[in-house]
Amino acid sequence: MTKSSDWIEIEKKYYAQTVRRQPVVLVKGEGTRAWDADGKEYLDFVAGWAVNQLGHCHPAVTKAIAEQAGTLMQVSNQFYSVPQLQLAETLVENSALDLVFFGNSGAEANEGAMKLARRYGKLNRDGAYEIITALNSFHGRTMGTLAATGQPHYQENFTPIQPGFVHVNYNDVEAIMEATNERTAAVMIEPVQGEAGVIIPADDYLKRVRDWCDKQGILLILDEVQTGMGRLGSLFGYQEYGIEPDVMTLAKGLGFGTPIGAFMSKEHCMALVPGDHGSTFGGNMLTTAAAYAGTKFLIDNDIPAKTKEMEPYLLGRLNDLRSRFSFISDVRGKGLLAAMEFESDISPQVLTAANEAGILLNAPRPTTIRFMPPLTVTKEEIDQGMERLGDALATI
Ligand SMILES: *Cc1c(COP(=O)(O)O)cnc(C)c1O
Repeated sequence: MTKSSDWIEIEKKYYAQTVRRQPVVLVKGEGTRAWDADGKEYLDFVAGWAVNQLGHCHPAVTKAIAEQAGTLMQVSNQFYSVPQLQLAETLVENSALDLVFFGNSGAEANEGAMKLARRYGKLNRDGAYEIITALNSFHGRTMGTLAATGQPHYQENFTPIQPGFVHVNYNDVEAIMEATNERTAAVMIEPVQGEAGVIIPADDYLKRVRDWCDKQGILLILDEVQTGMGRLGSLFGYQEYGIEPDVMTLAKGLGFGTPIGAFMSKEHCMALVPGDHGSTFGGNMLTTAAAYAGTKFLIDNDIPAKTKEMEPYLLGRLNDLRSRFSFISDVRGKGLLAAMEFESDISPQVLTAANEAGILLNAPRPTTIRFMPPLTVTKEEIDQGMERLGDALATI
């Protein structure tokens, strides 16, 4: 059997070095647990990067994939696809949006939403094309979503950056107001900023942005790639804030481990017409069958409500650690998206120690670690995970 260290050598030799990896080679998973190539067991609080809402290899999802794989996997989008339509119906009937388009990733979902906004601006706002996004946002790695992402360090090596984006402070409605002009077509923000380190806005932020967009006749696009599919304790993040977006993007948790993205739109602003947009794999039968099975399970078992119940439990355990270790400066979270903040840049050491102790975590910032376990995580798993994290923090 090939050992973890061998795979790590193979990666170094053959794989483009564009990603900073943790030295962990996972080969098997079940629920919240995963095992590496040497047989070591971990509690997985990364969950495929907030993807595996029902944990690893949930039977509802693996069964749907196996059945679909043995039936029909890919037809061209010039033909109808039943699993694609079952998923579309489920998402629309359970959200405030009216129409959906499937792509293959979060970035692609946002690309579609941004194309929609430009088309909308052409048709309804005299050619307006600018999209206001937030500083420290994350919208993806394609050329368009890189321009949308309000983090210069992601952009610097790839100039010239696509024009048409304005970045303003997050959680600052006045900044959006000031940045709005006759060129503005849309505002695109995350309900909670994930990659920025789980930044939770004021309770009335989204509502005030919604009001402003209505007043100005510009679109409100919510990037729910990370916050959607139950992560914040409602099926979609906007439900936590009592508003409805005009356009919403999904990916990550939508596929329950398979690669899929979507943008959804209200009927009144679906400005795209036949020929404007498409994707060879978008809404592929295998991914939509998995997404449909997972989404149905999520809704039928009210997993978002369970996520909301688990929020105080996870935050309570994180705060226990905070009272034990003085170098923890903050703990915050919503649903099962949480972060722990340190007084100095120790996240890399904490992650290394956490790997050793058997809990997998992510560090979106040098001072921040993030928790995004499966939404099905149990109290016992949280207890055990926090015990392991406590052991890790004790070595720092
Ligand atoms: C991860 C993420 C994306 C990008 O998704 P990819 O599937 O990696 O392209 C976009 N927006 C948000 C909010 C994300 O968290």
